[in-house]
Amino acid sequence: MKAVLDHVGIAVSDLRASLAFFEDALGLHVECSEDVPSQRVRATFLGTGRSTLEMLEATSADSPVARFVEKRGPGQHHIALRVDDIDAALAHLRARGVRLIDETARPGAEGARVAFIHPSAAQGVLVELKQPAPKVPLFTTPVRYSLGDLELLSMSDGFIGLDGGAMFGVVPRTLWEKRLPPDDANRIPLGMRPLVVRNGATTAIIDAGCGDKMDAKSAQIYKLDRRYHLDHALADAGLSADDIDLVIASHLHFDHVGGFTARRNGATVPRFPKARYVAHRGEWADATHPHERNRASYLQDNFVPLMDAGVLTLVDDDTEIMPGVRYRRSGGHTPNHQVVMIESQGRTAVFAADMYPTSAHIPDAWIMGYDLYPMDTLAFKRDFVREAIEREYLVFFEHDPSMAAGYLREQDGKRFVERVI
Ligand SMILES: [Zn+2]
Ligand SMILES: [Zn+2]
Repeated sequence: MKAVLDHVGIAVSDLRASLAFFEDALGLHVECSEDVPSQRVRATFLGTGRSTLEMLEATSADSPVARFVEKRGPGQHHIALRVDDIDAALAHLRARGVRLIDETARPGAEGARVAFIHPSAAQGVLVELKQPAPKVPLFTTPVRYSLGDLELLSMSDGFIGLDGGAMFGVVPRTLWEKRLPPDDANRIPLGMRPLVVRNGATTAIIDAGCGDKMDAKSAQIYKLDRRYHLDHALADAGLSADDIDLVIASHLHFDHVGGFTARRNGATVPRFPKARYVAHRGEWADATHPHERNRASYLQDNFVPLMDAGVLTLVDDDTEIMPGVRYRRSGGHTPNHQVVMIESQGRTAVFAADMYPTSAHIPDAWIMGYDLYPMDTLAFKRDFVREAIEREYLVFFEHDPSMAAGYLREQDGKRFVERVI
């Protein structure tokens, strides 16, 4: 359990008098102020670097803060520690016999979830645990979209947290953190969004998220959140793994093809029992002969069992995989990374995979530090973005936490994404 000092709570009887000291004399600034009805207090936060001071003023005579002030006068009321997962933190403390005031978390200020530990367990100090509201809205619902006579279903396999600096390469944090604010460990939340493509005859899925084989240590490093995952999304769309006929890999990194296989009775087997799988021949060669730089991304368990089971077909550039669905080499991220072009009745959608992992990666130079050949990524993006704007491609952002797809637009020389899903 990792806890970071979030704020120190100070019970006051007269907010104006307290601000005369903390604001006027000390020179701190009020960052926000809000009523917390569940505590019958008004909370006013003053910034002090990474933590804050919280002035607590009772809004009703029966508020716990009113009783505190009545008994002891104004003064330090509690300290608050920020945790990533308050439910896990409470379970951790309960297991150690720590006396809690709140057995379960309840709503606090600014959309946070909070719980108090009894002062008798903490040397007489009242300790609040606080899980802040997510800074980035997470979007999971499967969404159906018609593209000509194809049906597209945007899926979710949950979220992972990757290092923000690695996700944006040479772009300084001061720029990217406005788009995707990181957590205390500098991780930003990223979706994993496979895409189902159906015509009357075939149900295909492009990529399948990281699946359920990740070990506990990696799950912690990558802040894995699969409370809602691909099986849920398929079920919500009226489908199951048995309905998938064709599985297409953009490339063979674990966050894209971990869900291609599953462990059943100790063996690793194809996760979609009736499907044929398709991967690029060159990508397969790289993935099965990894080097020090890409080894952590190519987990053999995710694709070798497919070859062993005889269900994997390797194809070359520009192969049409099903009618209207074809590979297009982008390179860059990996030498044989593919985007998937989806065309029907004059309309085009593009599964951009790791070329445009999120809608924040639209500027040509916003390229991931993970890319093996960033100059190839740049060359691809320069051409592709023109084409996508002119021909109104619907671009799917596999890793965007809050949006599944949109149109690239340009207005007065500025590029942006118009969200569709
Ligand atoms: Zn990748
Ligand atoms: Zn990826």
